[in-house]
Amino acid sequence: MKIISNALELKQELREQNGTIGYVPTMGALHEGHIALIKEARKENKVVVVSIFVNPTQFLAGEDLNRYPRRDEADKKICELAGVDFLFMPHAEELYFDDEVKIAAPNVRGYVLEGATRPGHFSGVLRVVMKLLNIVNPTNAYFGKKDAQQLNLIELMVKQFFMDVNIVPIDTVRDSDGLALSSRNAYLSKEQRQDALKIPKSLYRASQMVSRGILDVESIKENIVDVLEPLEIAYVEILNREFEVIESVEIGKSVILVEALVGNTRLLDNVWL
Ligand code: AMP
Repeated sequence: MKIISNALELKQELREQNGTIGYVPTMGALHEGHIALIKEARKENKVVVVSIFVNPTQFLAGEDLNRYPRRDEADKKICELAGVDFLFMPHAEELYFDDEVKIAAPNVRGYVLEGATRPGHFSGVLRVVMKLLNIVNPTNAYFGKKDAQQLNLIELMVKQFFMDVNIVPIDTVRDSDGLALSSRNAYLSKEQRQDALKIPKSLYRASQMVSRGILDVESIKENIVDVLEPLEIAYVEILNREFEVIESVEIGKSVILVEALVGNTRLLDNVWL
């Protein structure tokens, strides 16, 4: 495995490779969720590239940029063991420029849900993902369904900018207790982790309602809110795959998204129905 921090050097290395390139962008503190993406990339491509970059432009003022977990040495070992060919670990000063040409999140889809609680977050995400995709120029890029809105906006960017990459969504990996794996779970105390389990529980209950034939969005949302009690809820939404509001769940075409605060930690989860 080659570890590279310079974008032009990585581009040069990748130009010399033959065959398909699979790419997994991450912010590090790697867990089984990231590893699932890497494994899929390994299975489907000749060359696998992973990046670790805690992207400052997607953190709002006062968010956890400076305390975001960093585990570079452990991450390098995980990548090596997972069969990664190139690990890209750029520095912010090399990726960003003064007075930059900028891509911005769309006014509606980029500012609802997570975009409403974190206005500007998705512009930062799209800025960095656009740069990273242009550097790596992968055949396939792997993203988790756990960050459903992010995935949706990246698919939109790729389509609207006529970019030549296949976006591959990967199912959410959960801990044995049901909590979706996230680097931010490291912030939770033992008690908070117990509280956080209300999130997957609420989604499980909602899926059970749907499988019993209850499709009315308002009733399902009420049930989710009840289960989440007394957590502070950022949003509970049931949308179609275009992220538009619906009144009734359509199986195979809907997604339930939840964001709740456990202490100061924002936790996201969703279920694709
Ligand atoms: P992050 O390092 O949190 O930016 O995540 C990097 C990629 O891993 C994103 O595409 C995430 O959606 C994905 N990811 C994070 N957690 C999980 C999980 N529990 N299961 C599957 N994918 C995940």
